[in-house]
Amino acid sequence: MEEINSYINKVFVEQDEVLEGVLAAINAQGMRPISVSPASGKLLTMLVAMTEAERVLELGALGGYSGICLARGFGEKGHLTSLELEQDYAELANAHLAKAGFGSQVNYLTGPALDSLAQLKGQRRTFDFFFIDADKENYENYLAACLELAENGALIVADNVLAGGSVAEAGEERQHTEAMKKFNGTASRHPQLESILLPVGDGLLVARVKK
Ligand code: SAM
Repeated sequence: MEEINSYINKVFVEQDEVLEGVLAAINAQGMRPISVSPASGKLLTMLVAMTEAERVLELGALGGYSGICLARGFGEKGHLTSLELEQDYAELANAHLAKAGFGSQVNYLTGPALDSLAQLKGQRRTFDFFFIDADKENYENYLAACLELAENGALIVADNVLAGGSVAEAGEERQHTEAMKKFNGTASRHPQLESILLPVGDGLLVARVKK
């Protein structure tokens, strides 16, 4: 999987000083290097653009790498709402989005994403694009909550659904494997979703909402 990803990144992903700056800052702050892969980031930009999404919800901001990729896909009317557990990560991501030119098109809600999702539901907010990339154990809960906030035809994308390839290996005990297997099973069979798993980066689930 690593060789294939290196090949995809090498052939299809352009050098990007803005995103490389985000990765360097994450490294300098001693944060875990768990941003989406460059190819996944490019795909996020393309998916937002292709669906012409304008109300994007991200779960898990870290340093803003995927946030920039999502924002690059929408036009002047687009807006990103990003949910992040850690206040200092949200501040770093916010600074990076501002530096990339999207400062007025993003807001961060800090604290556990499930609380923020309940708050958004209470406000009757809806979204046409979701990117799930927070704690893996809650992916099934996030899917259910996102569906409640989704417009008909919305896209739900989730990262790390291959869990390093371990979802396909019998008896593999790798961390998050069971959570990802359950999530993939639920998403693939859900009556309100049409979904597929793309083996880009650590695996992206792409699902279209049918209400
Ligand atoms: N999407 C980011 C990117 O590619 O640039 C990477 C996100 S990183 C894989 C996961 C993020 O989820 C971390 O920043 C972590 O603090 C956050 N997180 C973990 N548990 C969370 C929770 N319960 N609610 C909200 N965010 C959470």
